[in-house]
Amino acid sequence: MALAGVLWDVDDTLFDHSGAERAGILRHLEAEGLPADGRALGLWHAVAEEVHARFTAGGLTFHEHRRERARRFLGDPDLPDDRADAWFAGYVRRYEESWAAFPDVLPALDALGGYRHGVLSNASLARQERKLIRLGMRDRFSCLLCSDRLGTAKPDPRAFRAACDALGLPPQRVAYVGDRLDLDALGARDAGLHGVWLDRAGTGGDPPPGVHRVRTLADLPGLLRRVTG
Ligand SMILES: [Mg+2]
Repeated sequence: MALAGVLWDVDDTLFDHSGAERAGILRHLEAEGLPADGRALGLWHAVAEEVHARFTAGGLTFHEHRRERARRFLGDPDLPDDRADAWFAGYVRRYEESWAAFPDVLPALDALGGYRHGVLSNASLARQERKLIRLGMRDRFSCLLCSDRLGTAKPDPRAFRAACDALGLPPQRVAYVGDRLDLDALGARDAGLHGVWLDRAGTGGDPPPGVHRVRTLADLPGLLRRVTG
């Protein structure tokens, strides 16, 4: 059955989240008079990963997750809400000043103009909507589904199937493209879609059975033609 739709992850797939996050936290730490070095970056990323997992699992609200990231990073579990909010807001301001799409995104969307496109993300809908508008690509996607409104998150098959329903296509006619092998490509495969792992870093090795791997979105149109046969 011919492929007719592509669902996309946002962060580190369409949007250079890691680059913006790195630039944003370094600028924020410098402004706060704190060390802006590799150790601080490593701690920031470790805290973000752990606290974000609790947010997507439903253990924290979005605001609680931001406060928790500030408290954990600063090593101050008693930091009052208003000060944690202000600290995180300073980071967000500098992070948003650094927002950019990867340069291979718009050419890939142009080359795949005959497909229906949608977004499925584990971040909040309000945030991803604003991000896609700011990046000038919101109108490229007919649907935008996020875990906070959906009530389920990748890699749960229900999240992928809800996004296929929103595209109006059965899973076997849809490819899912994301940077995470576990959450994105394997989750999509297990839900009956074509899982495409965008391995920008080139971590090497063969992808698991049933998962396709591309190093850049420039390789996606050719891959989807081959999948369609
Ligand atoms: Mg991602």
